[in-house]
Amino acid sequence: MVERSAIRILVLDDESFMLKLLNRVLVNAGFTDVTLFDNGQAALDRITGMQGGGPDVILLDLNMPVMDGIEFVRHLVGLKYQGSLILVSGEDERMLRTAEKLVQAHHIPILGYLHKPVKPDALAALVEQWAPASSVEGGPAKKAYSADELRAAIENGELINYYQPKVSVATGEIVGVETLVRWRHPVDGIVFPDQFIGLAESAGLIDALTRMVFAGAIEQAKTWREAQLPLRVAVNVSMDNLASLDFLNFVAELTASAGISPQSVVLEVTETKLMQDTRAPLEILTRLRLKRFRLSIDDFGTGHSSLAQLRDIPFDELKIDQGFVHGALVDETLRAMYDASLSLARQLGMEVVAEGVADRDDWELLRQTGCDLAQGMFMSRPMLPADLPGWVESWRERVRTELLVAEGAKE
Ligand code: C2E
Ligand code: CA
Ligand code: CA
Repeated sequence: MVERSAIRILVLDDESFMLKLLNRVLVNAGFTDVTLFDNGQAALDRITGMQGGGPDVILLDLNMPVMDGIEFVRHLVGLKYQGSLILVSGEDERMLRTAEKLVQAHHIPILGYLHKPVKPDALAALVEQWAPASSVEGGPAKKAYSADELRAAIENGELINYYQPKVSVATGEIVGVETLVRWRHPVDGIVFPDQFIGLAESAGLIDALTRMVFAGAIEQAKTWREAQLPLRVAVNVSMDNLASLDFLNFVAELTASAGISPQSVVLEVTETKLMQDTRAPLEILTRLRLKRFRLSIDDFGTGHSSLAQLRDIPFDELKIDQGFVHGALVDETLRAMYDASLSLARQLGMEVVAEGVADRDDWELLRQTGCDLAQGMFMSRPMLPADLPGWVESWRERVRTELLVAEGAKE
């Protein structure tokens, strides 16, 4: 824990009254190393002249006449600012959140934002969150892997499948699982897909990867079936997989030879880059659908998943991206987007899955709006197959005792 008096704070606000007020609040709370500025340029000059990459925390007013807060952030990026930011503004919630996203996009850690008039407790609590760079979680920057390393990993069987449940919102029953691949690295431990899927696509390894994942998932589906657990199994498919007919044949033959019905196999499709030629994927997806495989449009609502895709491809399932689910019960903007996605899917006769269901509020929202399926940490993280039977048991217990209780009857 760092002493409050050791945290170097810079406050930038064009109103001298606000400066004095924030200063007083900070000093009273024990944050004594505070410097005040009423314009962006003067603050930037000072930061340039400071030792150790500038202050630890900057309290930044968004609305300033000459250089506004957003422009100031751009300059901070240019100066390779190492500290954190707190945004302060009289603007509404939505505006502050947009500004927060902008700051995050520049990779400047943001401790949060404060509405004017600022509440002393809220301010102290935010500054308190500041932690020296070395102790920030996540540790060293994510390692980049080479195509050769990934190729070897695929050949050596270092990629393993985890499975995350998809449950019925109405009944709580587990309906299926999504297969999520991880790399069990001999030195680095478990490596997550965001660190190697892009590489697999650009290095021409995504076909080999998807085949491994798919084969493992089908094998697993068969095992579950034999254990009286007939689950629908979803696999993520990259658009790059849909460039050749080989993939279609591979999927169809493997599924048939395992004795699994195509209706129990879901292919979740995301567009990771702009397609040059959409004819091949369109044809392959349509033919998969004719063979009764279930097609799912993944990450709906993000740039990777569009209305054009929805128009062109006969999807059975729509997955509302987690960015529009978690927190949507209380956030008007998210709620509007969640509702619109749900209603679109309904009108097109598709089954709807909400992703990123992380807490009880999210679950309540799904219950209230009649969403079909839920997936997320509130139910379970992705897990190894060995852990699934135990999870099913404890989940059923939770459903019975606390989750299906009618509104108003609980507590
Ligand atoms: P996705 O398909 O959108 O998968 C859902 C991701 O959200 C998973 O991350 C999952 O662990 C995470 N997640 C689950 N519940 C929650 C929650 O409540 N809150 C939050 N914030 N996140 C949650 P993961 O496993 O790291 O996978 C990331 C992405 O990598 C996947 O996103 C998918 O696009 C891709 N991916 C994973 N496996 C494969 C694969 O075999 N092939 C391809 N092409 N892509 C894959
Ligand atoms: Ca997915
Ligand atoms: Ca998704």
